[in-house]
Amino acid sequence: MKIGVLALQGDFVEHIAMLRRIGVETSEVRLPEQLDGLDGLIIPGGESTTIGKMAVDYHLIEPLRQFGAQRAIWGTCAGAIFLSTDAHRQQPLLGLMEIIVERNAFGRQVASFEIDLEIPALQKVQPQGGPFHAVFIRAPLIESVSKRAQVLAKVPDGRIVAAQQGHLLATSFHPELTLDDRFHRYFVSLAK
Ligand code: GLN
Repeated sequence: MKIGVLALQGDFVEHIAMLRRIGVETSEVRLPEQLDGLDGLIIPGGESTTIGKMAVDYHLIEPLRQFGAQRAIWGTCAGAIFLSTDAHRQQPLLGLMEIIVERNAFGRQVASFEIDLEIPALQKVQPQGGPFHAVFIRAPLIESVSKRAQVLAKVPDGRIVAAQQGHLLATSFHPELTLDDRFHRYFVSLAK
């Protein structure tokens, strides 16, 4: 099992640290050939326009689409935006997940927040794990998911903040910034 982390921009270091902590082999991905031999890929949080433009410059768009057609990809925050089909703006997107997102939906940087969420899917990796402490930093909202995708988590007002479409995963928040490794273990189970 080897999980790559897209390392163009954003908090890829924190994802790598979490994967190492749970004993999963990992590597930084900046070039198309670095996708070879990976079982899954994490696209970190950061700034989705920057990540998209750099992916264009590094000729990664098509290789990432091909990778995601067969193998697991998880996008956190900006990474979730990059995975989506529509972000209501002109910016490079992979269009792999049939989700529509709204960037910065919770307001500006100062409106960042943390909240405990019930995420039943995580019981797959830990039956009695309890709520998940979710960190939102200038986060996007998942406005809607197609019939092919499934909602994994909502904030109390009902807005969607995590979704899954087969082996593809999107979270508006940042599990890599906590010590809770359940989401990373859940993703590894999708990559198997
Ligand atoms: N606001 C960023 C964007 O729209 C995402 C923020 C994050 O990844 N924490 O790309």
